[in-house]
Amino acid sequence: MNRRTFFVLLGVPGAGKGTQAKLLEDRLGIPQISTGDIFRYNLKNATELGILAKSFMDKGELVPDEVTIRMVEDRLTQADAQAGAVLDGFPRNLVQAQAFDKITEPYGGISLVPLIHISDEEAMLRITGRRVCRTCGAVYHVEFNPPKQEGVCDLDGGELYQRNDDLPDTVRNRLYVYYKQTSPLIGYYFAKGLLVELDGNQAIEQVQDQLMSLLAMKVAVA
Ligand code: ADP
Ligand code: ADP
Repeated sequence: MNRRTFFVLLGVPGAGKGTQAKLLEDRLGIPQISTGDIFRYNLKNATELGILAKSFMDKGELVPDEVTIRMVEDRLTQADAQAGAVLDGFPRNLVQAQAFDKITEPYGGISLVPLIHISDEEAMLRITGRRVCRTCGAVYHVEFNPPKQEGVCDLDGGELYQRNDDLPDTVRNRLYVYYKQTSPLIGYYFAKGLLVELDGNQAIEQVQDQLMSLLAMKVAVA
């Protein structure tokens, strides 16, 4: 089977995974796959999956593994993912990580796992100021990455909104869930020799440059 390039971005909610994955998509020619975005898309369209996911997302809990893993498997069968993908928000616990190893094994496995570091205080500031385009999902920050016109997406003129789960109480639980369930993946990927770490407390462009130089050696596409 052909080799594919898979990057898994790790970091607390707000670390900048989505922002960086979107930029990598353009630069590397492999799609960003964000499980959070897929759930939100389903929520918007009131699908069965969206309705199921909502009850977990509103509390800041993880959507059950079986549903999430199947969704990623399906997504990877689509035409644009045939050269690989940048995963953002998946895997999020050890069960998902082991499943993803099985899924990617026929294609040469995961190429690299960049971990983006920021403090919890910075995460709170970033998440509570995050705004998302209702139509295309583009991500802004009221202060750190504002749109040209307040409340309006630069890309398609869509309305910007604050995610339900970006309110302070839910954010605290999401950070807790991250430390409890997702952070063990740091050791998991370190042991496999896949982990690289970078400082997320820099401007978006600087983080992107740092990421690109880390990934450059691993890119079999583009
Ligand atoms: P994640 O996907 O890890 O939750 P996002 O990419 O959605 O993170 O970013 C969280 C918020 O922080 C967004 O509002 C985004 O615009 C902003 N942001 C992302 N990267 C940076 C950065 N390097 N500096 C300042 N703000 C950033
Ligand atoms: P953030 O970018 O701020 O980390 P996400 O958009 O990745 O947030 O996730 C939002 C919510 O969607 C999570 O709190 C969780 O409820 C659900 N979710 C996203 N990815 C997964 C996953 N891999 N497994 C389970 N639930 C997920």
